[in-house]
Amino acid sequence: AITNSRDLIEQTEKYGAHNYHPLPVVVSEAEGVWVKDPEGNRYMDMLSAYSAVNQGHRHPKIIDALKKQADRVTLTSRAFHNDQLGPWYEKICKLTNKNMALPMNTGAEAVETAIKAARRWAYDVKGVAENRAEIIGCEGNFHGRTMGAVSLSSDEEYKRGFGPLLPGLSLIPYGDIDALKAAITPNTAAFLIEPIQGEAGIVIPPEGFLKAAAELCKENNVLFIADEIQAGLARSGKMFACEWENVDPDMYILGKALGGGVFPISCVVANENILGVFNPGSHGSTFGGNPMACAVSIAALDVLLDEKLAERSQELGEYFMDKLKDIKNPMIKEVRGKGLFIGVVLDEPARKYCEDLKEEGLLCKETHENVIRFAPPLVISKEDLDWAIERITKILS
Ligand code: PLP
Repeated sequence: AITNSRDLIEQTEKYGAHNYHPLPVVVSEAEGVWVKDPEGNRYMDMLSAYSAVNQGHRHPKIIDALKKQADRVTLTSRAFHNDQLGPWYEKICKLTNKNMALPMNTGAEAVETAIKAARRWAYDVKGVAENRAEIIGCEGNFHGRTMGAVSLSSDEEYKRGFGPLLPGLSLIPYGDIDALKAAITPNTAAFLIEPIQGEAGIVIPPEGFLKAAAELCKENNVLFIADEIQAGLARSGKMFACEWENVDPDMYILGKALGGGVFPISCVVANENILGVFNPGSHGSTFGGNPMACAVSIAALDVLLDEKLAERSQELGEYFMDKLKDIKNPMIKEVRGKGLFIGVVLDEPARKYCEDLKEEGLLCKETHENVIRFAPPLVISKEDLDWAIERITKILS
């Protein structure tokens, strides 16, 4: 069997579709904020699998839940009940202060679920004429790779060659309240927004926008749907990024850290007046709500709460951001973020710096050409963060 990094990468490139451009590093082991390659080199993970491992790699409590559940039952399908789904429903509803949830597996599937829910709500509850429902999204968004999600994208490369795209969608510039006002029509079902845009390069809307947008939606009987798949679950220094503006969205879309980086699970959460539009036969997934995912997710949410990871993210994030702002280099255009969700905007491609940081033992990934994203697992210690800051300062100075 092939066990060295070079040959593993070659094998991967040879047989795999080339839909990603990873850094040339093979991860074969991980614990907390640290990962190792087959040769035993150690790196700090500064990406956290795009916020899926907020709780750290292989958190013992989450792994324990996985192992215990693996010894009992892993999959029933929704043809039968299982004993983990009810407890998980109650947990996610109490956390979000909503009364109904619908579990899926990946983020994009949960976004798809939100689009279907919003459309059906528009017809069955709001009274929009058949096939006229509209959904408004934001330029620069990333909601995943399904046809629904890419149809909403403003990035040509995400859509090229995949048409015809889904109709009934429109986009406004991110953070532009007047544009939202102008875009809403009597047929508008929902406004879908990432409270902080992750893939766009950690873009934060102007202060007051989320609040104003939520109010505008309420006035017009439009659902305000928050895609918190990447920014939510403690990443931005609050349990949900909407909390930064005290916004209570009509619907949350969650994923990634919902399964602690251990098992895929995603969901939408809202109240019954919205999610009540689904009846048997209208939506579902063979693996959605499986007992393995639910048991893991309950533990993953407990870790976020018990270890106060939102507070930790906020505190360490402020410290980290101050240190990054201290780096004097004219090629750094901006340092922005909330909590341990930070983007350093360069006036040149960021890839080279990510490769240099890798040589220093730090795994980062560029996003949108010119931005380096720093998003370590939220369990990172102050000492480990200082270790990282020392190396980042060296490379970016
Ligand atoms: N929505 C947001 C905000 C995301 O950041 C992502 C993934 O990066 C998705 C949706 C899609 O999630 P998944 O890759 O699990 O389908």
